[in-house]
Amino acid sequence: MDATVREVLPTQSAISVGMREIEELRRKSIENTELFWEPVANELFWYEKKGALFDKHEKPPYGGWFENWKTNLCFNAVDRWAQSSRKNKVAFFWEGEPGDRKALTYNELYREVNRMASALLRLGVSDGDRVTIYMPMIPELVISLLACARIGAIHSVVFAGFTSQALADRVNDSKSKVLITADGGWRRGKIIELKKIADDALKQCPSVQKVIVAKRTGQEIDMEAYRDMWYDELLKGADSRVRPVPLPGNHPSYILYTSGTTGKPKGAVHSTGGYMLWAYYTQKAVFDIRDEDIYWCTADVGWVTGHTYVVYGPLLTGATSLIYEGAPDFPEPDRWWKLIEEYGVTILYTAPTAIRSFMKFGEHWPGKHDLSSLRLLGTVGEPINPEAWNWYYRTIGGSRCQIVDTWWQTETGGIMISPQTGITQIPLKPGSASVPLPGVDAHIVDENGHELPANRKGFLVIGHPWPGQFMALWGDRERFESVYFKRFPGSYYAADYAMKDHDGYFWLLGRADEVLKIAGHRIGTIELEDALIVHPSVAESAVIGKFDEIKGESPVAFVVLRPGHDPSPALRRELLDHVRNSMGPIAVPGALYFVEKLPKTRSGKIMRRLIRAVVEEKTLGDVSTLEDATSIDEAEKAYRELQKEIRRES
Ligand code: ATP
Ligand code: MG
Repeated sequence: MDATVREVLPTQSAISVGMREIEELRRKSIENTELFWEPVANELFWYEKKGALFDKHEKPPYGGWFENWKTNLCFNAVDRWAQSSRKNKVAFFWEGEPGDRKALTYNELYREVNRMASALLRLGVSDGDRVTIYMPMIPELVISLLACARIGAIHSVVFAGFTSQALADRVNDSKSKVLITADGGWRRGKIIELKKIADDALKQCPSVQKVIVAKRTGQEIDMEAYRDMWYDELLKGADSRVRPVPLPGNHPSYILYTSGTTGKPKGAVHSTGGYMLWAYYTQKAVFDIRDEDIYWCTADVGWVTGHTYVVYGPLLTGATSLIYEGAPDFPEPDRWWKLIEEYGVTILYTAPTAIRSFMKFGEHWPGKHDLSSLRLLGTVGEPINPEAWNWYYRTIGGSRCQIVDTWWQTETGGIMISPQTGITQIPLKPGSASVPLPGVDAHIVDENGHELPANRKGFLVIGHPWPGQFMALWGDRERFESVYFKRFPGSYYAADYAMKDHDGYFWLLGRADEVLKIAGHRIGTIELEDALIVHPSVAESAVIGKFDEIKGESPVAFVVLRPGHDPSPALRRELLDHVRNSMGPIAVPGALYFVEKLPKTRSGKIMRRLIRAVVEEKTLGDVSTLEDATSIDEAEKAYRELQKEIRRES
């Protein structure tokens, strides 16, 4: 372990003070749900508060929030500030990839959202209708989400990197009436022809009656008469005031399809009241967001992180954020660091995959910029290996900023396990997401659902319902119950493998269905991957299990080397020895391949499922659900490249 990691490792006494405080809050929140959440709910606006804020249900998800209360997400996110002294505070600084800039105050955002809401109403969209949004990261995207929320329409955002087939599948699943898109979007200096892709998709989407097109790139596009209209023209005649619709707490606010790392995407449906409370509370508890902050969550609004921590969370807390449209390494690998310097960003929230790719570019890129405005760093999406944690802490945070490693899922609506700088400081352990938030009844259980003692690996489940929980999978009650609630009745099954240590810190070890079972031992993919990444030659790694007659399963490792290191039989031996020394002989991979890059989902997560298909010599046809999750072309390309590498190696 190197010096920096040791510096931030906690002392026992520091752990017990912070932990006691957090555990006490958490106990209260679960034992006395009403009493705990009522004052938090009162910080938000409700049209009506009838009855209990939480009701137990017999059936999954075993509870509902604010079912007889009425509110409006958009009112809370926008109007509340537009009517206050925050009126002229910037809600968003926006920068496009080519360098164009915009800033929207809360009052300006209010006006724009009202106009868009009015336009949607005129198109016949009303409360409960679905609207699919397929847009680049431009202000119109945020405005569109909020306009839907204002009138009670259910938005379904589809990531703008998805293919026409993936878009069509999601539009058809939700039976959206309207599609909001743009002519195109910028990515690494090139235009992504969104409207063209959407036109292609819409050939298969009978439910869509109207298409709204924002002008971003300005290239020629086809506009279909009576169906398609320009965003700007539509808004010209729109009203500048639309009354927000008071909605019950359990009104669906949006559908979001999971990123699809493991299988066919699931349309998670979120509530209005509970989701709002959770986005608001977690934004404050985890990030301790303040008026003077310039907060930047780098996620695309196409993912849940973008919904909760680019749009709803920061707006519900009246914060000022930065939104950036383009690629992190365009025109050069210091674009992000330049943005942080120029806007004075104080909080940065990103993903381990991004951190690892910046590590590969080298320290001289961030070194060119003054990053001293930063005070807090966050990560989400995958476990962060201590190497990357350390680099983030030292190189980006100047060994000065806390890191909040946040574990959560599309289904949970917001952060569940994380340091909570807005509540108290607890010492950090690199690689651990630390402790559950108030309201989060997290446990580690064995196969039979029995709670495991400290330091034993098992399945992560959530007992008592929490406010941000999803309400359903769109149109699929059976799958909702069987995927999440059947395995451990009475609890939500997160499908992640994890461990809680003696101090109560949670360590996420990978997906439960990817756990390796070697000679009776269970090893999380992350445990082996981390062991490899610690070696100075390794930039990234992915490990999967392959059937083995003797051991049950044998690990197969894929390794991407850092620049300056070349694949060789000697290096392979060295890496295998390195795993033997750190994890013991049973964990030593039966095969280790050097590859140029690892296949990832569009949200940047390693697709071990795809790697397994290659290793098991299955064709991609066997994993046809992939095409929902990522561009099939890209998956096939990654598949062929891996095959080629394996052949070259053996
Ligand atoms: P699908 O459910 O369709 O397979 P997905 O699980 O990748 O897709 P998300 O909801 O975006 O879709 O991701 C949630 C998952 O990401 C978690 O279940 C966990 O495996 C992983 N994850 C997220 N944050 C962290 C973190 N801080 N530490 C460890 N793992 C994390
Ligand atoms: Mg998942």
